[in-house]
Amino acid sequence: MKIRKNDTVVIITGKDKGKKGKVRRVLPEKDQIMVEGVNMIKRHSRTRGAARQAGIIELEAPVHCSNVMIVCDKCGKPARIGVQFLEDGRKVRFCCSCKEVLD
Ligand SMILES: [Zn+2]
Repeated sequence: MKIRKNDTVVIITGKDKGKKGKVRRVLPEKDQIMVEGVNMIKRHSRTRGAARQAGIIELEAPVHCSNVMIVCDKCGKPARIGVQFLEDGRKVRFCCSCKEVLD
């Protein structure tokens, strides 16, 4: 999976199509990510202890990584991401449209 925490992604399918957000969590075993402000679902919650508020809360639900594209912060476009190895052996991601390294 090429997506990492704090990447900016754009949703390419579903009800949130076109929305952009920052990746908050990556769930590699499911190929899913949590994106800020995307795929909000409403949940009813009960008070559990004093700190917790009862009522309806909005939560972000994970989206499958095939439903998003990484937005390149160098060229600002949703980009296909490639992987390359540097001379020192590090593996880095790069944007296929502007060829800039993202890490
Ligand atoms: Zn780019």
